[in-house]
Amino acid sequence: MAKYSTDVLIIGGGLAGLCAAISAASDFSRVMIVTKTLVGGANTTSMAAGILSAVSPDGDPEDSVRLHLDDTLRGGAQLNDRPLAEVMVKAIPKYFNRLRKIGVEFVEDNGKPRASFIAGHSKPRSYFMKGKALHLQEALKSAAGAGGVDFLERTLITQLVKDGGRVVGAVGYNGSEIVAIKAGATIIATGGPGELYSRTLMPAGSTGYGSSLGFRAGVELIDMEFVQFYPTMVWEEGLPKIFIEYTSLLKHGGDVLDADGRSIFRKEGIDEPWKLTRDAFSILIAKSMLKGGGEKPAYMDCTGISDADMDSDPILASNMKDLEGRGVPVRERKFGVSPYAHFMMGGLRSGLNGETSVPGLFVAGEAAGGIHGANRIGGNAFAACIVFGFRSGLAASLYSSTVGDPAGDPFSGAAASLSDAISHDGGKDTSEIKSRVRELMWQKVGILREKKGLEEALMELNSLRDMPLSSRNPMDRFLVPMMLDTAEAVTLASSIREESRGSHYRIDFPDQKEEWLKKISLSLSGGECKVKFLPL
Ligand SMILES: Cc1cc2nc3c(=O)[nH]c(=O)nc-3n(C[C@H](O)[C@H](O)[C@H](O)COP(=O)(O)OP(=O)(O)OC[C@H]3O[C@@H](n4cnc5c(N)ncnc54)[C@H](O)[C@@H]3O)c2cc1C
Repeated sequence: MAKYSTDVLIIGGGLAGLCAAISAASDFSRVMIVTKTLVGGANTTSMAAGILSAVSPDGDPEDSVRLHLDDTLRGGAQLNDRPLAEVMVKAIPKYFNRLRKIGVEFVEDNGKPRASFIAGHSKPRSYFMKGKALHLQEALKSAAGAGGVDFLERTLITQLVKDGGRVVGAVGYNGSEIVAIKAGATIIATGGPGELYSRTLMPAGSTGYGSSLGFRAGVELIDMEFVQFYPTMVWEEGLPKIFIEYTSLLKHGGDVLDADGRSIFRKEGIDEPWKLTRDAFSILIAKSMLKGGGEKPAYMDCTGISDADMDSDPILASNMKDLEGRGVPVRERKFGVSPYAHFMMGGLRSGLNGETSVPGLFVAGEAAGGIHGANRIGGNAFAACIVFGFRSGLAASLYSSTVGDPAGDPFSGAAASLSDAISHDGGKDTSEIKSRVRELMWQKVGILREKKGLEEALMELNSLRDMPLSSRNPMDRFLVPMMLDTAEAVTLASSIREESRGSHYRIDFPDQKEEWLKKISLSLSGGECKVKFLPL
């Protein structure tokens, strides 16, 4: 067994994990990032468009932090954890300025970052990074390395380790040996569980089930019914699977057509489709795809966009060139599109500094729930990853200096059961279970939900539990139970919320209801899942 010891352990090397690491290291703590992939790569951040929303002096002079907050809460159908949302919008401008100082470049207009309008924001306040988020991660990875942060890559954390009530580190597996990491404080920054759905853009291996790690250690899960589906992923045989940032295309005349060639917007009398937030747009497109039973195609048609349009809007021009460069015939003909699982609004419950209810355990980034309420507006995921990454890193560092070593050796029990699980191979193939779960989630816990389908999904997920597993990749034998925990939490919360709000659409309860202005919290007590409602 490989043993390590650090002050602050960060599980996850994406945007939130890197920000947390830089912050904890600036407080002179020993910091280790452990990731099942690579630090700064093969994660959701690497797929991102690189849009950051923040109020800035370079934006609309009439914009304000107050308006950013109002938009965030309206976007979240008022279900956001308001104190968290408030901290995010107040703090992000200072980090935005700092990122520019350390060399992160944004698309510019006359030498200044260009503030763009994206759906859900009432003012142009979204900034597109040059080189997308890969460039941002490289800058942060170098800063973390320069700050003395240790990187432990290709290591999957399978369990948090507790001593008494406190988290004192974690155990995991790197494919050849068990790894035990003792830590004064631990931060979960594992990203979102987009892999739960068959239609997703998550890169293989980058999917986060930190929700399961934290839940099993005693932290509440909140807002798990709110999964964001992004409306426009290229979905046609022979074309690359990539997502299309739709605002600029629709603003300049792009359209989405149903199988009969009719505009899905015009049918509903929608004049400004570019203002549709992702939740409403995905629900609209899903309804058109499923009308009349069976799935019908939907198409994006941007053939009316002219050179003059592209000259007038650098974001549109870069969007179109990017699509053409990647083989999408965006100016030549209509092409197939479909919504896909994009972001998780739910996750582990935390306070203003990422602290959870379990001492020694913090959370940051997409693994944290509550900030975005029932639907996230564009560029706010990066804002949350950065703000709560930095805050949790500092808080974890400060916390770690207040605690001593665990009393006995709490790692040996966790390592022994991990060793048993590694040596036991035989049973249902994990790849079969994974594809079944992903298809089930897309079909029955996807964009349009109803009681019968949710109940069937819960029953089937339950039947897949406790099955002996076999896999050529032992990592998968640990990931599948975590996947089932997370899938079950999403399904259970979706079956409990009998209304439609934000991204959660119930065919059998299509209206938003005042009495549902409360959060659903799930926690583990005596091996059973306990449901609570939290007032706002
Ligand atoms: C296609 C796409 C485009 C997007 N574009 C934008 C955008 O432009 N702007 C915006 O604000 N948001 C965007 N988002 C959302 C945003 O990218 C994510 O919310 C954000 O990058 C998540 O960062 P993170 O650090 O929380 O997680 P990630 O970047 O996913 O990192 C998670 C890390 O945890 C590791 N990990 C997970 N589980 C374990 C484990 N058990 N053991 C060890 N390591 C583990 C992973 O390997 C990885 O290193 C986009 C999302 C998608 C899918």
